[in-house]
Amino acid sequence: MGNYYDSAKECASREQIKAWQDEHLAKTVKRVYENVDYYREKMQTAGIEPGDIRSTDDLHLLPFLTKEDLRNTYPYGMLAVPLSDCVRIHSTSGTTGRRVVACYTQNDVDLWEDCCARAIVAAGGSKEDIVQVCYGYGLFTGGLGLHGGSHKVGALTLPMSSGNTDRQLQFMCDLQSTFLCCTPSYAAFLAESINERGLKDKIKLRSGIFGAEAWSEEMRRDIEEQLGIRAFDIYGLTEISGPGVAFECEEQNGMHINEDHFIAEVINPETGETLPDGEKGELVFTSITKEAFPLLRYRTKDICVLSHEKCSCGRTFVKMTKPMGRSDDMMIVKGVNVFPSQIEAVLMNQGYPANYQIVITREKNSDKLELDVEMTKEMFSDALSEVSARETKLISALKSMLGIYVDVHLVSPKSIERSEGKAKRVIDKRKLY
Ligand SMILES: [Zn+2]
Repeated sequence: MGNYYDSAKECASREQIKAWQDEHLAKTVKRVYENVDYYREKMQTAGIEPGDIRSTDDLHLLPFLTKEDLRNTYPYGMLAVPLSDCVRIHSTSGTTGRRVVACYTQNDVDLWEDCCARAIVAAGGSKEDIVQVCYGYGLFTGGLGLHGGSHKVGALTLPMSSGNTDRQLQFMCDLQSTFLCCTPSYAAFLAESINERGLKDKIKLRSGIFGAEAWSEEMRRDIEEQLGIRAFDIYGLTEISGPGVAFECEEQNGMHINEDHFIAEVINPETGETLPDGEKGELVFTSITKEAFPLLRYRTKDICVLSHEKCSCGRTFVKMTKPMGRSDDMMIVKGVNVFPSQIEAVLMNQGYPANYQIVITREKNSDKLELDVEMTKEMFSDALSEVSARETKLISALKSMLGIYVDVHLVSPKSIERSEGKAKRVIDKRKLY
């Protein structure tokens, strides 16, 4: 077992974890009921009193919170402490509507940084490391979160922030950074730049944490190979604290959720019913130690699976899979949950460009999923028999990923209409019948 940042908690028995969660959940519910008018009204509408929530077994009784609720209460309506007790504000990017702001007390900042410190230690980091943080600093939680975590570990922290690749590379070489924190796409870009400039021999990186956007296993292998490091995933969201809500360990197979701070549930996004381990659904978090902005049953819209199976690293915290998509994007085809991101992963894996369109129709009460995929120029020049073999291979890969038959049509490059802004990937004609 490694050198844990807080091994006493991370390796507590399941009984100890539950006892801790029961106690802190009951306290948090009471505090939120007393201090947050908006949530008290929600509880009253649901006919729930704080005394009804005695342990995590009662969690399912509490009403959900969504991003919509946070927008309704913007900016300070969800605060559970006086504003004068807060020391920091962070904010979401607001790409899907009004921004959400989250307030932190000093204790909230500390617990968040502890979570990031655990992530760094789980990725092999220690006080011997020189940690180059090239996430953006500012309202975005990426930069300051990993920055604070790196301090807690006692590592030498380089607060580079994002961009300015020339300077990033110069410092990486001159100061001999050993640990990199940034988005996976920026890590891939840095790797490319390092190789183009022939700097590979001059860098000393050995590990890194990459998150804040979706990335595939292929991309992980690519980054690891090109930079000569081990690449670890991290998960988090501003509403819950920031990066570090969950983190990958040396097994690199799912992320441990910091359960002493956050209770995780997976629910059926349609019915709200809680699902058991191993079943795919929407991830819901309840924060039980935060002071300023404790959210109860917050729906993340991220789809994943939880597992309590024993992990080889020794940690006992539940693990979540990498998010497989957003509940907003979920399609139900022939009774099966399908996400565009799953289809995209199969396409990327087989070298197709991300230009595709999904059409769902219904004939005689049976759903049909059709997929138009653009070929690359090279594929397009292949003989017809090869194109047909490619289609068969893709159909089979999609069947094993989704569990249903997909009618695949390979089409010529640039034949799928481009839209300005967000691409229209899914046309569900069933809604028109
Ligand atoms: Zn583990």
